[in-house]
Amino acid sequence: MTSGGSLSDYADKRSFNKTPEPEPVAGQSDGNRFVVQEHHASHLHWDFRLELDGVLKSWAVPKGVPEEQRIRRLAVQTEDHPIGYIDFEGTIPEGEYGAGTVSIWDTGTFDLLERDEKRIAVDLHGRRLNGGYAIVKTSEKQWIILRMKVVKRR
Ligand code: MN
Repeated sequence: MTSGGSLSDYADKRSFNKTPEPEPVAGQSDGNRFVVQEHHASHLHWDFRLELDGVLKSWAVPKGVPEEQRIRRLAVQTEDHPIGYIDFEGTIPEGEYGAGTVSIWDTGTFDLLERDEKRIAVDLHGRRLNGGYAIVKTSEKQWIILRMKVVKRR
């Protein structure tokens, strides 16, 4: 099974006999789904995840994914998550990594518009989030997520 993503960090942080989170099974292929999970951990944040490279590429967004243009939000890249995490909701027990409740805030599909080392642009088709979004890398782990102007299809 080949994958451009890696689930070793995901596995290292968790005890699967204690957390209800999915086991680190890599996907076979790229899909085009996304999810935003509201995570009431020690600090409330929203986890933005895109199905890419056979895993869920993931960012923690402390203030939430912006629904309007001209708002730039910090997005801290976190470890790749298994595809099976896309529909995870539940409570991670006290003492475990990310302890707290996880619920799905939005989910849907995306079209990949651009992707290079420092920039990923997608057109999201979710229940809440619709339209173009860019995630731009500003340093090692830090990215900025912003809503782009309307994406015009040809
Ligand atoms: Mn989280």
